[in-house]
Amino acid sequence: MKDIIADRTSKIDASGIRRVFALAAELEDPVNFSIGQPDFDVPEKLKEEAIKAIHEGFNKYSQTAGDALLREKIAEQVKQEFGWDRPAVLVTSGVSGGLLLAFLALINPGDEVIMPDPYFVIYKHVVNMLGGKCVFVDSYPSFTLPVGRIAEAITDRTKMIILNSPCNPTGMVYPQEQIKKLAQVAAEKDALILADEIYEKFSYDGKCTSIANFCEKALILRGFSKPYAMTGWRLGFAAAHESLRNVVEEMTKIQQYTFVCAPTPFQKAAVAALDYDVTEFVDAYRRKRDLLYEGLKDKFELVRPSGAFYAFVKAPGGSATEFVEKAIKNNVLIIPGSVFSEKDTHFRISFATSNGKIQQGVEILRKIA
Ligand code: PMP
Repeated sequence: MKDIIADRTSKIDASGIRRVFALAAELEDPVNFSIGQPDFDVPEKLKEEAIKAIHEGFNKYSQTAGDALLREKIAEQVKQEFGWDRPAVLVTSGVSGGLLLAFLALINPGDEVIMPDPYFVIYKHVVNMLGGKCVFVDSYPSFTLPVGRIAEAITDRTKMIILNSPCNPTGMVYPQEQIKKLAQVAAEKDALILADEIYEKFSYDGKCTSIANFCEKALILRGFSKPYAMTGWRLGFAAAHESLRNVVEEMTKIQQYTFVCAPTPFQKAAVAALDYDVTEFVDAYRRKRDLLYEGLKDKFELVRPSGAFYAFVKAPGGSATEFVEKAIKNNVLIIPGSVFSEKDTHFRISFATSNGKIQQGVEILRKIA
């Protein structure tokens, strides 16, 4: 039979993560530092809201752009936070859904997408799949926002700059001055910012600054997966200043013919989620960050994570892939940095697990360092 697989699939390489999971399948009760989702469950109150919505019959399609009440509430919060009067809002199937719609709506073949390296894995592969060109801007070893180098990387083909703060995989929350500088660069060069703020609530040493405070040409993507542990509910949203309404409208048009809408009963629960205080979870995750960082800092080279739930650690001995294999043989699951980077020098730890497992994992990693 002739090859039936479309060429674009060859632009996606999922082998790095798959290899870790294949090795992991052989382990019994490992220390799992590989998971990108919270270890707590959805708060009871929000579960009840979803169940109530199902019982009340909110089980059909919602409007393509999302449940009216939810969109109104998002718009209200966006207005309050960024001072945008009539923001455009689209409820998406997770931030992943929002990213796909944004890339589909914006990227022509040959368009350049600038992103700091390391980067969240989806960006690279979806941009490549659409024929876009990723322009990676090295942020090693400090992982601060490389604003100067981003400015130098901008060309006539630049379609957007991706900003992910707090960052997966580095755990960096970029300080306000850096965000402001990037906003200036974007304004001078008339570049669009795509701001993935899915970890915005997980900021441990002060509030995370959104670039939307300084820049109207920013498409903001936020999610419900991480702060409320609803990764399986597939909810997120895109918000933009009125001047970018056309972008959100094109994304909505594509949603109409792809996702159709985000899951309706969960959209009802999301209205309550927007008022739900997650301080308790964030405090617990700050303690996990401390436990991990204090446990590793004298044996490994790592920047103290200030947000999300990841640490990006330099592999002793050079090759991260080799160190990851050694860690997995010792019952600790970590992800090689090459999954998130053009380099293979670091590995990612997710500390979204119990304090006991963090202590156990730290002990093992220290032994094999
Ligand atoms: N952006 C980043 C930076 C992420 O880490 C994730 C999840 N790992 C996503 C987007 C997608 O999350 P979701 O689709 O569950 O909202």
